[in-house]
Formats: sequence, C-alpha cells, structure tokens
Amino acid sequence: MAHIVWFLAPLTCLHCGAHAGEQETRLHTSDLHRDPESISVRPGELLEVGLQEFDDAYLKLRAPVGTEDVRALEQWGCRVCHWAQWARIVFRYVDSEHYRFISAETVALTPEVVRDAHFISRHLDWWVETHPGEELERVRPLIKHLLS
Ligand SMILES: [Zn+2]
Repeated sequence: MAHIVWFLAPLTCLHCGAHAGEQETRLHTSDLHRDPESISVRPGELLEVGLQEFDDAYLKLRAPVGTEDVRALEQWGCRVCHWAQWARIVFRYVDSEHYRFISAETVALTPEVVRDAHFISRHLDWWVETHPGEELERVRPLIKHLLS
C-alpha cells in the first residue's frame, strides 16, 4: 500500500462555503516522501522530499526554478456538499532533500491557478470525467499543453 502524506490544514469549500477542520479535509498525496510510513504534517513542518519525490507523486506542469516555493494542486472532497475541490499546497525549499509544508488553501482550477502551479494531482482524469463544464473546457487544453 502506498504511503501517504496527510496535510493537516483547515479548508473552506468554494461550492457551499462549509469550513472543514484539519482532520476533516482528508487532504493527502500518495508517494510523496521516502519513509514507508504514512505521516501527517501541519503548516511549518518539514518533509523529507526533494524534486524527485514531487515528480513521483504529481504530474509536473513546469519545473520549479532554483529555490522558489513549490505549488502543487491536490484534490479534496467537501464532506457537506460532496463536491470535489482543489487545494493549492505550498512547499518551501530547505535543502535538496527537504521542503517545508507552508500552507494549503482551496482554489478554483482556473487557467491562472494552473499556470502558477508546478505540480498537479495524478488523479486528474477522474476529476475531468466527473466535472464537465465551461471552466473545464478552458483548463483542460492548458493542462494537456503543459504536460506535453
Ligand atoms: Zn461544500
């Protein structure tokens, strides 16, 4: 079974406005760190990850330049309205083997947000299939372009 990093940070649903506590968001990414155990991190905590681990865990939209903050887009589900949501997770460079988890916030998957991010969830196909709509029609070609 894949090891998981759980990100403990409260999030707000953009669809219904519900607030999810840090345990309720179930925001997580698989295969992000080297330790075989699953772990939980709060903002400010250190992760044993380098660029290789980000590559393994996410699809790469563009490579981080130097020591800039890494921004990854990951999905979570609102427990109240059950809509899929996106969170932007920010990581700060510490050294080549470590990044610090800085923050997580709910974002809409707009072209601007996608362009600003370095990595996006590997479970994109599922989200694309279940969320047809105008926004997706703008975002999907951009993601495909960035991944190609
Ligand atoms: Zn909701």
